[in-house]
Amino acid sequence: TRKRKTIIISYFDKLYKENQDSFFNDLEQIIINEERAMLVTANPEVFSRAEQNKELHEALMDQETMISPDGEGVVKAARILNYSIWGKIAGVDTVQHLLEFCNQCKKTVFFYGSKQEVLDELSKKLKIDYPNIIIKGMRNGYDYNETVVFDEIKNTAPDLILVALGVPKQELAIYRYLKKVDKGLFIGVGGSLDVLSGVKKRAPKFIIRCKLEWLFRLLKEPRRIKKFYQTHITFLFKIRKLKR
Ligand code: UDP
Repeated sequence: TRKRKTIIISYFDKLYKENQDSFFNDLEQIIINEERAMLVTANPEVFSRAEQNKELHEALMDQETMISPDGEGVVKAARILNYSIWGKIAGVDTVQHLLEFCNQCKKTVFFYGSKQEVLDELSKKLKIDYPNIIIKGMRNGYDYNETVVFDEIKNTAPDLILVALGVPKQELAIYRYLKKVDKGLFIGVGGSLDVLSGVKKRAPKFIIRCKLEWLFRLLKEPRRIKKFYQTHITFLFKIRKLKR
């Protein structure tokens, strides 16, 4: 278990701990400088899975990968382990901020994943709210071959690539192709496109402020409870043990 301990600690060492503004600024710099990078918006599930999955572990530890704390579970765990951390940076806020930035700077974006109806709604929204974004492509996560889509991404060389295939499929898919492209900020965005399109509702603001968004999601989607217990609760127990 000594090895285990160092594995999980290495994720926390790498986790972004400064405030949200400096994080968004760092991401903007990646786009402005046309660098190649991958962002993992991590919740406990990501870390638990990475411990067991060599490829996901490599993806997280790669020097072109950034990890942001997209969950109170991760923030809490970091604090238990005595890291000083600003707090949760929600994936959906990150995506929204980057879309605003890409709109201001007329940058190019590719959307891969989620259902076709979600992409249809999203594309209507983008036209209204972010009219200057140049959309290089939109492919749902069910009807297209991953290799073909990533070839399209390579050929169109977008500035920002949002991949919504669920954890850990999206992270693994991105990492498999990352080194083949020349530039681009790749983000595994989970259910963020569902929210931004308006198809799914995010928790009301006061619930977010009370840090109870996770509870709202569980109540809305009870099928997540089993997975939540397996990944989040056991995760915090494990972290507490590590501390001893
Ligand atoms: N998704 C997809 N293809 C798949 C599985 C999932 O496009 O084969 C999409 C799904 O429509 C949703 C997103 O991935 O928009 C995240 O899925 P989910 O909320 O189940 O995953 P989580 O965020 O819990 O990892």
